[in-house]
Amino acid sequence: MPSKDYYKVLGVDKSASQDDIKSAYRRLAKQYHPDLHPDDKACAEKFKEINEAYSVVGDPDKRAKYDRGEMDMDGAGAGFNPFGGGSGGFTATGFDDIFDMFSDAFGFGGTSRRRRAQQNVGSDIAQRIELSFMESVLGCKRPISFTRTEKCPSCNGTGAKDEAHVHTCDKCGGSGQVRRVQNTIFGQQISVGACDKCGGTGRIVTENCKACGGRGTVTRNKVINVSIPAGVENGAVLQLAGEGNAPKNGGRNGNLLLEISVKPSAVFKRDGFDLHVTVPVSFMTAVCGGQIEIPAPDGVFIHNLAEGTANGETLRFRGKGIRSQRGMAGDLYVEISVEVPKGVSRSQKKALEQFENDCTLKNYSKRREFLDEIAKLYK
Ligand SMILES: [Zn+2]
Ligand SMILES: [Zn+2]
Repeated sequence: MPSKDYYKVLGVDKSASQDDIKSAYRRLAKQYHPDLHPDDKACAEKFKEINEAYSVVGDPDKRAKYDRGEMDMDGAGAGFNPFGGGSGGFTATGFDDIFDMFSDAFGFGGTSRRRRAQQNVGSDIAQRIELSFMESVLGCKRPISFTRTEKCPSCNGTGAKDEAHVHTCDKCGGSGQVRRVQNTIFGQQISVGACDKCGGTGRIVTENCKACGGRGTVTRNKVINVSIPAGVENGAVLQLAGEGNAPKNGGRNGNLLLEISVKPSAVFKRDGFDLHVTVPVSFMTAVCGGQIEIPAPDGVFIHNLAEGTANGETLRFRGKGIRSQRGMAGDLYVEISVEVPKGVSRSQKKALEQFENDCTLKNYSKRREFLDEIAKLYK
């Protein structure tokens, strides 16, 4: 079970409606908004907690999962979100989305955006990965090569030749922000914006770093080995937090987003964690029973097909479907497709005629019932 009780965090009952949860979240978020309590760490922590809680129980799907105890609070190991676009796990991106919604809802837009600019987050990098069907089922390791900006090692991201060439901006006094007072028909309006002299960094560089030309970042080709979790679905987006671009002027890296594209299988069809497979079986095996080969994620296994198995019968093998990293396992459904032999020789036909002559109505109970029913129709 998850360690945190998100309902408690939001101060609502477990049976609260989505609307109740939303209004509780808004009330609390407003109360603990960091803009209203600058430099209050406890408040900031509480605000984060509220957002985390709302990112789960504020979404009906995630809430249902959470209620069933299926949310993985550790974010599936490597900060991944393997099961479908945007479900499970908390990410910086998710947090920002909520932040946006929040800003719009309360008119804190200006200040939040400033706060975010201060936080300075690099951009995300998106990349598509093609997986074979079996790779998606079993999981795999993949080297991912991409190009990203990294903090310039020569200047440590400052963009300056050395410390002596970095000065505090005299216009904003190093805060990166300036107040503007405007007289309008509604009276005096004070707005706070990024300092135009230093671009909001609070610093003036008098001589640029030669390695990065003052950008503070350099472009690098990067290869990382990514573990793709078993059971990943087509269209899922894996998020590798902090593997994206480094921002200019220092700050937090963006994320690397890997969109999974799974090639369809000629053998298996997938339905959630269940697998479906159609196994062609010879006419003789269907009649007399016998061994058939059934493919499963961990290899082919032999099954003794019962005597007299009809075309279209479906066998279910529990737990032989897709096994997720969280230990859930789907089922394997095997549809029997009896193949009627084609192009039989004269002697084969003779043998079959002999066989048919030996058959009694007992061998064809369905056909006998059917003939009886039609006879009744035309009495
Ligand atoms: Zn540099
Ligand atoms: Zn400035």
